[in-house]
Parts: sequence; structure tokens; C-alpha cells
Amino acid sequence: MFMAENPKTFLEGIVIKRDGGELAEEFYTRFIPSIASGEIPDYQVSALLMAIFLKGMSFRETRAMTRAIANSGKIISFPHIKQPKVDKHSTGGVGDKITFLVAPLVSACGVMVPLTAGRGLGHTGGTIDKLESIPGVRTQFTPLEMERLLTQAGWLLCAQGKDIAPADDILYRMRNATGTVPSLPLVISSIMGKKLAIENDGLVLDVKFGKGAFFPEVEKARELGKTMVEIAKSAGRTCRAVLTNMNQPLGRAVGNSLELIEAIELLKELPQDCCDVVDVTLALGAQMLIVAGLEKDEKPARTRLLEVWGRGEGYNKLVAMVSSQHGDVSYVHNPQKFPRPKNIAKYKAPTSGFITGIDAFKIGELARRMGAGRERAEQEIDHSVGMVFNVKVGEEVRAEEELAEIHFNLGEESEFIAEISRAITIEEQPPTQLPLILEVLS
Ligand code: URA
Repeated sequence: MFMAENPKTFLEGIVIKRDGGELAEEFYTRFIPSIASGEIPDYQVSALLMAIFLKGMSFRETRAMTRAIANSGKIISFPHIKQPKVDKHSTGGVGDKITFLVAPLVSACGVMVPLTAGRGLGHTGGTIDKLESIPGVRTQFTPLEMERLLTQAGWLLCAQGKDIAPADDILYRMRNATGTVPSLPLVISSIMGKKLAIENDGLVLDVKFGKGAFFPEVEKARELGKTMVEIAKSAGRTCRAVLTNMNQPLGRAVGNSLELIEAIELLKELPQDCCDVVDVTLALGAQMLIVAGLEKDEKPARTRLLEVWGRGEGYNKLVAMVSSQHGDVSYVHNPQKFPRPKNIAKYKAPTSGFITGIDAFKIGELARRMGAGRERAEQEIDHSVGMVFNVKVGEEVRAEEELAEIHFNLGEESEFIAEISRAITIEEQPPTQLPLILEVLS
């Protein structure tokens, strides 16, 4: 039988992975803490990441790396909180502001929601970057503070920092700067490493497929979801994954404060006409209530979420979290306070027809180039820039109709217009589309 290898040095491990070999669990247990403490130089970590990206990992290795990432910091529990605790995570998308809706709504239903989130990765936005659009808000806490904040607000949105899965913090930044983000085992160990570091009664994963997902093909996204559910199960956790469509950006806004404003406005007033953000929020929220044990089926779970939404309780929970994390809540009450960019350009339809595509990958890359995301790990981001779309795929438009606004501070308007025109396609016939919510894996 083929034996996984357990080399003595990190360099030997790189060579084994480079040649397509399997490393033993002990390798990850020994060296992931050294990555977290900064003992392994960046160039060697980058080389290992690239070798994993190119050659992959077995299930055993992925599980070992996940456990080692979780154990690289503290395992956080909340001994004084008796209510059920449920976590949620997305595999990364464009315009994905769902956390800002679903977490407060589920919390308003009586479930505690302790969330760890990441910064922008590749072309995708980061929930922590979006939250940090609010002046004063803190995102790093000690375990004791986390329990206190959770008790105060009923939910918590924090970056992992040095206490929670610190190895992931380092690997995440390095993957972002070395072109090694879209790797199944690296995405799985990154997400599940953080999730296993925090005690909960259930986890719901939003697994994206489509152009703006790290794994566009449905089959690959399904494999991602199944493996994460399997890893959660092997750690004794309850976990469900919902496959959702990321071919076009979710909602109308892309960019940090723009997305937050969209989420605030939706939460403040439940729209009459349903939209993709509302649909995905309800799909994930229903699964969160089910894994929390509050509901048995999706239908009553959705009804419960809609009730608290309609009564403004979700909005109150958003305000409570921002306030408990020291953010200036006047920005939530009055989103006009968020700084505006210097320039707003309008993109108009070059022709009449049906919108057949708004390429989420191209839009995510454009937003990153405009300053909404990072090209280098240490880069500051610009919270005010991004895009707002007036249309969704499938809608009919007339020539010269305004399709999108581009909010920017630096760069050339003509360049942005040219790029957005390559991302939005208009054709004579309406498109066929995959469903927004494809399936639930449990
Ligand atoms: N979210 C994460 O936390 N890690 C990834 O690798 C992708 C999405």
C-alpha cells in the first residue's frame, strides 16, 4: 500500500508535493504552527502553496491541514452561552453581502451567530473589508471579548487575527499574492480551519458556482461542498452546504461601502419584489435555523425569517453588532454619510436587446483594479469605489439606457467603461440560466 511520507524538513516536504507525493498528517501538524509563528520564510511557504495548487492533496492531507490550521490558534468556546450557535461561510463571490442580512436575521430568531470572516481574496470581496467601511469598527477580539460581544448583540463578525486560526491569516494573504487561491484543498482547509476553531452547533456553507466563483463548474463546486461537509462530519460537526449561482454579481452593488449600503437598505425595509439577495438570504437562513434545531423544514423557517425581517428585528440586530464592535452606528442609520468617490461615470447600453451576461469574474477583477481589493498583501483598499448595476441578467434594455454606475477615485473613465462593456453582454434572445439556488448538500 502507498505510504504517505513524513519528511524531516519543510524543504523535503516541498519537494515531495512538487513531485505529486502524499505527505503524512504529522508533516502538517509539525509545520503549520511554524508557518503561523513566522519561522518558515515566505518563499518556502509560497513554494509549498504552488506545489499544492499544481499537484493537489488527498482527502487525508486536506483534513490534516484543516485540523492543523484550526489548532494553530485557540479553540474558542462560549461556555456561558446556552442558546444554539450557528456559523455561516461563503466560498467567495462578487457582490456577496449576504452575511450582513442573514446573520442578524437568524440572530433575531434566537440563534447565536459567531462569525469569522476574511478579507478580499483574488477577485472576490471580503466581508471584513466591507464591515471596515464603518468608521471605528473593531474586528479583532480576544476569546473573552468574543463571548461578551455575542451575549450583547446575539452575533459577532470578526477577523481571525492571532487567536483564531492564525496560520490561515498568513496562508490567505500569501495565496492572494501568489496566484494560488483557486485550489480545492487550499480553499477547503482555509474555510474549515477557521470554522473548526470556533465551537458551534452547526455550520451552513454557501458554495458558489459560476463565472465569479473560484470553481465555476457545478461539478467542482459540488465536490468542494461535499468535501467540506465530510470534513465537518469527521470533526463531529453538523454542516450543510447550499450551492448558489455566482455567474453575475449578487444584488446591485459591488464594492465595500456600496455593498454594505445595499445590505442596510434591504434589511431596513423588506422589498415587495423579491430579488437574488433576498432569495439567497432566505435559503441560507432557513438552513441555519434547521441546523440550529429551531425548525425542521424549510418552509416554516423561511416564514420565521420573513416575520422578523418585516418587524425590523434584523435591522436592529445589525445596529446592535456594529455598536457592540465600536462602529459608528450613525452610518447604518444614515448611509449617505459613507464617503462618496470623486467620480461617478455612467455606462449606457450600446444596443437594444436582452442582458445575457454580467460576468462576475470580470466585474470582480475590475473592482479590485479600481482599488476595492488588493493586488499586494499590504495594500490599503479604497472603501468608496465600485459599481452599481441597474439591470440583472435576463432583463430587456433599450439602446442608451443606463446600465451601471462606476464609482472611482483614480484611473481613467474610458478604461473602466471599456472593461465594463466587455463584461456585460446584450443579445437579441433572452438567455437560459441555471437556478439561483441549485441544491442543498447535507
Ligand atoms: N473563504 C475563505 O475563508 N478562504 C478561501 O480560501 C476562500 C473563501
